[in-house]
This record gives sequence, C-alpha cells and structure tokens, in this order.
Amino acid sequence: MITDTSHSLFEKAKSYIPGGVNSPVRAFKAVGGNPLFIKSAKGPYLYDEDGNRYLELINSWGPMILGHAHELIEKAVKDAVSSSLSFGAPTRKEVEMAELITHMVPSIEKVRMVNSGTEATMSAIRLARGYTGRAKIIKFEGCYHGHGDSFLIAAGSGAVTTGVPDSAGVTKGTANDTLTAPFNDLQAVQTLADANKGNIAAIIVEPVAGNMGLVLPQPGFLEGLRQLCTKEGIVLVFDEVMTGFRLAKGGVQERLGVLPDITTLGKIIGGGMPVGAYGGKKEIMDFVSPVGPVYQAGTLSGNPIAMSAGLAMLHYLNTHPEVYTQLENIGNKLVSGFTENLKKLGLSYTINHIGSMFSIFFTDKPVVDFDSAKTSDTVLFGKYFQAMLNKGIYLAPSQYESLFLSTALTDEHIQTILQANYESLEEILVKA
Ligand SMILES: *Cc1c(COP(=O)(O)O)cnc(C)c1O
Repeated sequence: MITDTSHSLFEKAKSYIPGGVNSPVRAFKAVGGNPLFIKSAKGPYLYDEDGNRYLELINSWGPMILGHAHELIEKAVKDAVSSSLSFGAPTRKEVEMAELITHMVPSIEKVRMVNSGTEATMSAIRLARGYTGRAKIIKFEGCYHGHGDSFLIAAGSGAVTTGVPDSAGVTKGTANDTLTAPFNDLQAVQTLADANKGNIAAIIVEPVAGNMGLVLPQPGFLEGLRQLCTKEGIVLVFDEVMTGFRLAKGGVQERLGVLPDITTLGKIIGGGMPVGAYGGKKEIMDFVSPVGPVYQAGTLSGNPIAMSAGLAMLHYLNTHPEVYTQLENIGNKLVSGFTENLKKLGLSYTINHIGSMFSIFFTDKPVVDFDSAKTSDTVLFGKYFQAMLNKGIYLAPSQYESLFLSTALTDEHIQTILQANYESLEEILVKA
C-alpha cells in the first residue's frame, strides 16, 4: 500500500489544482517549504497526513473558537444530516438563526444568510449602492474583505503574501469606484469624502483589522467614521467576518461601542461550515429582494446543515459569557509570556493584541496601518514560522495574519507554546 505524505499529496495536487491549494495563503509561499495536509483535528490539536501532531493557533482562521470537533457542534450536524442536506425552501432553523443574530449583534435588526464572508461583503456593498443611489466606496489599505472585485485594491493578507496587491482581471471601472485611505487616518477619509461629495455609497472597514497582521483602531477612529457617515449620508459597513462573536458576543461594535449601519459576518457564524451573513437597520435591509430592488440570492443559502452547526455555536456563545473571560485570560497569558520572552532576549518587536487575537511583527516600530505593518522583516518571520512548526506549533503561514485562540488551550498548552516561542526566537536570532 502506498501511503500519501503531505509532500506527495502536494505534488499531486499541483497537477490538478492551481498551485495545489483552494485558497492561496495555504500554499506556504510566504514562509517557504511545503504545506502540511491535515487529516483531522481535535480540541487544540491538528494531525497531518505524515503522522505529526501540532498545537495550533489559527483554528481554521477563526471559526473553531471552542477548539476542533467540539461535541455540541458535531452532534448538531449529525442530528441534522438524516433530515436531508438541503431543501432550497425556508426552514425553522433559519428563523431561529436570524433571531439569535439580531439578539447578539447590537446594530442588526434584520439579516440575510449567505455562504461565505466574500458573499456577505459583496452583497453589503451592492445594498449600500442600491440604498444610496451612489457608486463609490472607501476602503482601507491592508483591510481584506474577501475576493470581490471592488475589494481587491490594497487588499492585505493573501494578496500581499503572494505579491499581487491588485488582482489581474479587475476592470479599471471597478477599481475607479474604490477609493482607499490608510487605516487609522481620519483626515485622509475626510479629504476623500470632500472630493467625492454626494458620490460615496459606503465606507467599509474591519473595525479591528486582522488581515495585515492585527492592527487596532486608535481612539476616535471608528467614532470619527461614524460621525462622517451620519453627516454625509454614507452607509458605514463593519466587516466583522473575523471579529464577530470573537472579540465579544456582539463583535467589535459591542466591545468598543460604535454602531455601523450594516455588519458582515462569517467564520464563527458557521461553526466551521461555509456560512456568511449581512445585516443591519431594517430600513436598509428592506431594500433587499424580494421586498426591495437590490437583488441577491443563493441556492444553498441558509443550508440546514450549515445552520445547525452555526446555531449550535452561536447558542453556546450566547449562553456562556464565561467563554469570553476565558479567551481574554488565554490571550493575556500568551501575550505577556511572549513579551517577557522578547525582553529576556533583548528584542524589541511589536506585539498587537486584543482579546483572543494577536500578532508579533518583526519590527520595532508601532504598527498602526499597512505601511507600518510592512516594516516587518518577513524573511525573519518565515524562519520563525518554520522554527515553531519544528517544535509542533502551527502558526498562520504569513506575517500579515492574526492568530486566533480557542478555549481548548489549557495552561499546559500555553507553557508549551511559550517555551517554543523562546527557543525559536533564540534559534533564529541570538545564535545566528
Ligand atoms: C475571511 C474574511 C473575509 C472573507 O471571508 P471568506 O469566507 O473567506 O470569503 C472577509 N472579510 C474579513 C474581515 C475576513 O477576515
């Protein structure tokens, strides 16, 4: 019997799948080496096709906030499967899901389910355009909103990692309607708004940015966007695909107390299944078809298996506020340990952190926007990534990603990670 390894699978994959992967960052291009092919996962551990076990800090880019193969979610999916996988007709679960989301996320009064974060942001922007009758949008450099044409302008993470900040295949017309400003730069936004008065449909922002590494909004930034949008009749869209149900039950808007007009959701909302959603004020959401003129549809939207997984996840988070205290504690322990390690080694790299998300940037400059994120030494990051992997710790394979923690991490796991962090830094820097 021939046993496949990650290496042989990747070689084969490259013959049949562009680059061997179904999403670019997975190819490990930014860190070198070949990607690991994952066979299974349980709690905080990933198991690859080569028989190795890794403690992981990505958690499927966020959704596995309770760790892998959590029994509640597993049971919800198993129970749903025997009633058929899809109907393409309304179900009770969709109503329960919508009710729960509007209860949990402060600014959402009505919500539409879709199948990915990308679909959510594309639909949200179409809605903002239909609602305002305006064409242009403002986005921020280094913010990623999925792979919709309008967003592949200064798009962060995957796009930066592969060195293609602006994608081929996006027309000039589309690019012209997308204006960009540096994250945390209110003055730049004001200047764009003044120069395009009456033409801006939406400002879309990751209210805590996680796709150029983790970058926090400076005090007053989100409040300033809110004020400007209210004054100019611009729709404020918070892309909470990453942060929703993670940084608080109700996302960044609850945690920092600034409310958008439309919110986009993904990742955790599906409990690991492909799900997204966009929602907001009734007045705006009622512009969506079939009540309003903005068309948006989906054969598998609100899929019963996906809704079952998502409902189990959200219901658990909604009824267990201690999850968020636990995530804060895990985040604080890891980040203070990392900070101490840097200090012991006489290094002054920047760590950005909020709740269960953090990034180490290999730069001594504060990281407040995409330009400062790019001062990081990405070659060094690649070495650090490989050193950690050798010690059984699986990180996001790019400097321009945040790490995502789960409640499956115990104090013992945290000690293992901190020890690996110290040894890896020592290996790549001090001894080199
Ligand atoms: C992941 C992500 C998306 C895209 O979601 P997909 O499900 O990958 O299409 C959009 N916005 C943000 C902020 C994200 O982190």
